[in-house]
Amino acid sequence: MASTSSAHKVGSLLFCPNCGTLLSLPRDGESFVTCEQCAYQEPASSYENVVITTHSHPEAFPSALRQKRKTQTKHHDTGDMGTLVSEKCPACGHMEAYSKEKQLRSADEGSTIFYTCTSCKHGWRVNN
Ligand SMILES: [Zn+2]
Ligand SMILES: [Zn+2]
Repeated sequence: MASTSSAHKVGSLLFCPNCGTLLSLPRDGESFVTCEQCAYQEPASSYENVVITTHSHPEAFPSALRQKRKTQTKHHDTGDMGTLVSEKCPACGHMEAYSKEKQLRSADEGSTIFYTCTSCKHGWRVNN
């Protein structure tokens, strides 16, 4: 009981010097930790010298906030291709192309027809 020997420290754990039982952590307000086997009392202050290594993860920050943004570029919007017409492609000579008329300039200057070859996807435009 009145032993002057101190508890054995293994890492952050304290063991009873008499019977080797693992001593539990001191409860709040208690100045001694009593061994459950031999009633040895270890001053709770011994625990203050024990370096408790807590495994903190510096990378524990929410990296899940990284959002995978899909850059959706619609190149194959068939509704935007225009109407299919018989026009000779200047690039490959194919006789089918999509035509789309755009009023780029003022109305009295006419419009511009954009052609897109259905074979080689070559694009050109003709000013009316
Ligand atoms: Zn003990
Ligand atoms: Zn072509």
